[in-house]
Amino acid sequence: MTNDGAEVVKRITRLAREMTGRRERFLADLIRIRSYTGQEGAAVERTLAELRAIGCDEVWTDSAGNALGRIGHGPRVILYDAHLDTNAVADEREWPHPPLEPVVEGDAMFGLGASDCKGGVAAIVYGAAILAEVARSGDRPQQSGGVARSGDRPRQMSLLDDFSVVVMGATLEEDAEGFALRSLVERDGLRPEVVLLAEATDLTLRRGQRGRCEVRVRTEGRAAHASQPHLGESAILKMLPVIAALEEMNTSLPVDPIFGKGNQVVTLIVGPHTPNSVPAWCEVTVDRRLVPGETPDAVLAGIRAVVGPLGATATIPTQPVTAHTGLRLDGPAFYSGWLLPDADPLLAAGKATASALWGVEPAVGVWRFSTDGAYSAGAAGIPTLGFGPQEEQYVHAADDQVNLTKLRKATEFYALFPWMYAQ
Ligand SMILES: [Zn+2]
Repeated sequence: MTNDGAEVVKRITRLAREMTGRRERFLADLIRIRSYTGQEGAAVERTLAELRAIGCDEVWTDSAGNALGRIGHGPRVILYDAHLDTNAVADEREWPHPPLEPVVEGDAMFGLGASDCKGGVAAIVYGAAILAEVARSGDRPQQSGGVARSGDRPRQMSLLDDFSVVVMGATLEEDAEGFALRSLVERDGLRPEVVLLAEATDLTLRRGQRGRCEVRVRTEGRAAHASQPHLGESAILKMLPVIAALEEMNTSLPVDPIFGKGNQVVTLIVGPHTPNSVPAWCEVTVDRRLVPGETPDAVLAGIRAVVGPLGATATIPTQPVTAHTGLRLDGPAFYSGWLLPDADPLLAAGKATASALWGVEPAVGVWRFSTDGAYSAGAAGIPTLGFGPQEEQYVHAADDQVNLTKLRKATEFYALFPWMYAQ
C-alpha cells in the first residue's frame, strides 16, 4: 500500500476500537429483539435507527422490508448483506443463557442470532460507519502528519463519488435465502456491482456454496374401498420403485471439482389421509443438493428421465414466502449453487483487504450451507464473496455466540474493503 493507504488503515483500526461500545450496544439490542423469519419488523426499525446514527446519506426500507442504508453517491454499488432473521428456538432449556438476553462472557457475546447473523449486521453497519468518517475526512487536510501529498488525496476524495456502499439488514434468509435480495434487485431496482455476505467465515473468505432445491415426485392411482383392493390401484405401491430409483440416482449426479458430488434424499412422503381406502395418490419430497451450474430445467429433466417411465411426475414446488411488510414473494424452491472464479477482482480485493489490515493472506474456502448468494451469484450472476466474524460451529446452536475481537476485526475489513476494491 502507499503511505496514504497505510494512513487509512491506521485510522480505520483506531476508529474500530473507539466505536467498540456503540457497536456492541447495537449488537446487544439486536439480540434482545426477537426476529424470527417473516417477523423482522422491530429488528429492521432498530437497524434503521443505527444506520441514521452512523451518518448514512440515505436510510430506507424496500418492499420486502429489508433495512437499507447508503454511504456515498457513486453509481457503482457495493452491497453488504447480513440477515436480521433468526431460526426459532427449539428448546430454551438447552441454552446456557436465555436466548434473547445478550450476555458477554470472556471475549464473546452470547445470544440468539449472534453467529447467524446479527454479528454480521453489527460488523457491516460499523464498517460503513468508519468508512463514512474516513472517506469524508479525506476532503479536509490531515490534522497531523504534515503535508498530504497531492497525488494521494484526490483518490480518497473520489471514492464516494465513484462508489456507494449499501448496507442491508436482510429479511427472510433462513426460510428462503435470496428471496428478499431478489426483491431488492428485481422489484426495487438496486443493482449492486458486487455483494459481500457477512455470514460465518471466521474472518476467512468464502467464494461459493452448494445449492439446493426441492422436487415433488407424484404417482397417481385409483381409490377403492380397502375391503376390495382389486377395484383400485395403489399409488403407494407405484411409488416404491420410484423411491428406489431416486435413491439410485445418487451414483450418477453431477460432480464438481470443488464441491464434490451433488446428492438427493427422499425426505417426506404423503398421501390422502384415509386409512380405509386404496390411496389414489402419493407424493414424495426430494431434497437435492446442487453443484454450481445446475439449473431447474436440468434437475427436472434428469429426475423425469428416471421416474417418468415408472409412471411418476416431477415438479419443483412453489415456496410460499410472506415478508413482514405483507408482500408475497412466493417463488420456486430452487437455490442455485455458485463459485466465484479464482481470478475474479472481487476475490483479489478481499485478500488484499485482509492482508493490508493483518499482514496475512486469509484462507479461501466455500460454504457448506446456503446463503443469499444463491440469488446474487447463483441466479443474478453478481460477483459475491463471503466474509464474517462469526464461527460456523455456533450457527443454529444453543451456545450461539460471536467473538468480540473478531467482530471488531470484521468491522475493519468492511471499512477498508471499498478502497481495495476501487484499486
Ligand atoms: Zn445466516
